Amino acid sequence: MEIIAAVDRMKRNLMEIICCPTCKGDLALSVRKEEANEIVQGSLTCGKCHVDYPIEEGIPNLLPKEKK
Ligand SMILES: [Zn+2]
Repeated sequence: MEIIAAVDRMKRNLMEIICCPTCKGDLALSVRKEEANEIVQGSLTCGKCHVDYPIEEGIPNLLPKEKK
């Protein structure tokens, strides 16, 4: 039996856990590429901050963006 550590991979059920790093609000998911119930490429958008957090290679980049 193979156990795959997928903690840092972007699965759909991760949406229940993650939130905006800035305001802790809900993030809207848009999927550009999905494989085996894992989002490979897409973005997470905070409706409050109007900031996009990219998902690249299955890993969401949730680093707060600096305000310009
Ligand atoms: Zn936010």
